[in-house]
Amino acid sequence: MNIGFIGIGQMGRPMSNRILEAGYGLAVHDLKKEAAMPLLKKGAKWGDTPREIAASCQVVFSSLPTPQNIEEMVYGDNGLRAGWKSGDIYVDMSTNAPSTIRKIAADAGAMGVTVLDAPVSGGTKGAEKGTLTIMVGGDPAAAKKIEGILRAMGQKIFPVGDVGCGNVAKLVNNMISLACNSISAEGFVLGVKGGLHPQVLWEIISASTGNNWCMQQYPNTTFKGNFEPGFRVGLAYKDIGLALDLGKEYAVPLPVGLAVQKDLQDTIAAGFIDKGVDAVILPLEKITGVTVRLPE
Ligand code: NAD
Repeated sequence: MNIGFIGIGQMGRPMSNRILEAGYGLAVHDLKKEAAMPLLKKGAKWGDTPREIAASCQVVFSSLPTPQNIEEMVYGDNGLRAGWKSGDIYVDMSTNAPSTIRKIAADAGAMGVTVLDAPVSGGTKGAEKGTLTIMVGGDPAAAKKIEGILRAMGQKIFPVGDVGCGNVAKLVNNMISLACNSISAEGFVLGVKGGLHPQVLWEIISASTGNNWCMQQYPNTTFKGNFEPGFRVGLAYKDIGLALDLGKEYAVPLPVGLAVQKDLQDTIAAGFIDKGVDAVILPLEKITGVTVRLPE
């Protein structure tokens, strides 16, 4: 089975590297060829276009930033669709709009191609270690065929129902996680302003009901003043927007989600779109004159 991977970014690079290291033959493509150089040096083949990747592979994965990027990659003149053959499987691992992947699945189905959505959680560290959580929506028989490849990237693989449901699960997860990210930033600025040492506050919350995954990253990020991505503010803003769109589609009010969107918007306006998501604390630190750092 020839495998293709399109989108060799913060996530796609370590994920495709895991596939290669598991011993599978791999062809890769990205808008920027230099992004794929480390993989090409290890024996991956290069494809000039998504069409070329689809034509030479039976299973193609993608990890791209936005629904627009994915549509362009699939439907463009030299897109995946132009190279699809009946029996192929396309697995989109991006955080995507459920409506976008459902439309692609319907169009692909008419050509005998099966589409799965398999978004991931666990960040760039999880991608490097192969410990991602993967939420798989779509045909169980196709999911079974590619299970071995998914296992090279993730340890916790959840079948979640029809195509698109993977992204429903992912968007709900990110909405909750980004709310924790914003409220942790507010809590730490408030706590330090109120006289607490950040380390003491962190230990208390780690042992209490406010504990959460985002705050657990602080020793490597906020406390060190390290806001390099990881998960970029711009992508988090895209995800909360997609979650709010889903709320509109299903008539579910999401007031906390709206507050998180505003927080990320303020962080972007302050110039931090390409920083890691922990950077939501920076505008608040500026306003209050407090910094939540630990000496090295
Ligand atoms: P990234 O911006 O680092 O990488 C995306 C790559 O896609 C880039 O190399 C870019 O050149 C390429 N690309 C864009 N459009 C393309 C096209 N039309 N054809 C070919 N290549 C194209 O993004 P990332 O952080 O790797 O995120 C990828 C996806 O994974 C996003 O949907 C994101 O929301 C999701 N995600 C990210 C994280 C994280 O921690 N970074 C965690 C979970 C999920």
